[in-house]
Amino acid sequence: MKLVLLGGPGAGKGTQAALLREHFGITHISTGEVLREARAKGTGLGKQAALYMDAGKMLPDDIILGIVKEKLALPGMAKGFLFDGFPRTIPQAEGLDKMLRELEMPLDAVVSIEVPDELVTERLLKRAQIEGRSDDNRETIGNRLKVYYAQTAPLKAFYQKQGLLREVDGVGSVEEIFQRVKAVL
Ligand code: AMP
Repeated sequence: MKLVLLGGPGAGKGTQAALLREHFGITHISTGEVLREARAKGTGLGKQAALYMDAGKMLPDDIILGIVKEKLALPGMAKGFLFDGFPRTIPQAEGLDKMLRELEMPLDAVVSIEVPDELVTERLLKRAQIEGRSDDNRETIGNRLKVYYAQTAPLKAFYQKQGLLREVDGVGSVEEIFQRVKAVL
């Protein structure tokens, strides 16, 4: 199973991704997680990422595509994978298409988790208290939502045209949402 998980900040992508990874036995790749790890290690990439992340801004497409290219070259990817938080822009989606065409590993589906903004802000502020993520504050959340609508939401039409888009209602319990995700796959 080769999947992309779409959804705004706080839509529950990470939570559903963990369940999908277990269920299908596939590799989970979160570009946000890669960047947080780089930050924790204090690498050059990490230092650069911190500036963007704390402003609620996206990193440049070429940096993200470079990270993804490395991940796609790892053993086991042909068995299945799940991208969470990538692609986030049309150029990233086009870049991914090109890489997957070259590797002859086409996507099976793109699942978009739909959650209203009010709920998202509430969830993210709660997550800020629990996990202490430095980009979960009211100002950054507002920016991330704006960036999502301007740059990431258009990916739904992009994948709709390819017949890959599956929209799922992201309001409910983790288990309810997981059942809905499985039902569309
Ligand atoms: P996430 O964990 O997916 O919410 O990502 C956290 C932050 O990392 C985002 O707000 C961006 O600053 C950065 N980031 C993660 N994935 C991407 C991506 N595909 N393109 C650009 N920036 C990204």
